[in-house]
Amino acid sequence: MSTAKPIIAIIGRPNVGKSTLFNRILGRRAAIVDDFPGVTRDRQYGEAEHCGKEFIVEDTGGFEPGSEDGMLLLMAEQVEMAIREADALVFVVDGREGMLPIDKTIWEQVRRAGSKVFLAVNKIDSPTADPLVADFFVLGAEHMFPMTAEGGSGVAELLDCLIENIPMPDVPEEDAEEPDRDASGP
Ligand code: GDP
Ligand code: MG
Repeated sequence: MSTAKPIIAIIGRPNVGKSTLFNRILGRRAAIVDDFPGVTRDRQYGEAEHCGKEFIVEDTGGFEPGSEDGMLLLMAEQVEMAIREADALVFVVDGREGMLPIDKTIWEQVRRAGSKVFLAVNKIDSPTADPLVADFFVLGAEHMFPMTAEGGSGVAELLDCLIENIPMPDVPEEDAEEPDRDASGP
């Protein structure tokens, strides 16, 4: 088995909850890695762990251009970079706003590239608050998860699916045994 940690990039248009999901996946245990080799500066990386598997999670975006055209161009560039750099993508959409044309554009770009993609329909804060989730069925995603990145529901299901579908190294024994890395002492 390969020992390299795969990179999972979080993509999607501004304000859908990418950074919220990034922070939730990392939790307090994971360290932010800002000197990961071969990366650009406008993205954030962190080392994550789920059920004994290790991977790198990447947050994209960070600033919003003023114009609609600027946003389309920026999105296309960011998604292109994520496609090249990552082993799999988590495509976040806003389940309250429903599907916008730019979501469809991003999805098509990802499918053309043949990337592994997991669809996160975010901001579904309660099980009954999902009137617009069905909007996204038309994309025909193999893996689709209604979730609330803020509240946390649905995120574990996404991570379970990621570790089932992407080869990942096991957490080393000595790390797994350690109850709390923040505790002082040797
Ligand atoms: P990004 O631009 O895609 O990185 O989005 P952010 O993570 O910065 O979140 C944008 C806004 O959406 C913030 O105000 C978040 O608090 C909010 N948000 C993120 N996740 C959820 C969620 O699950 N439910 C709700 N109601 N709001 C959320
Ligand atoms: Mg963000």
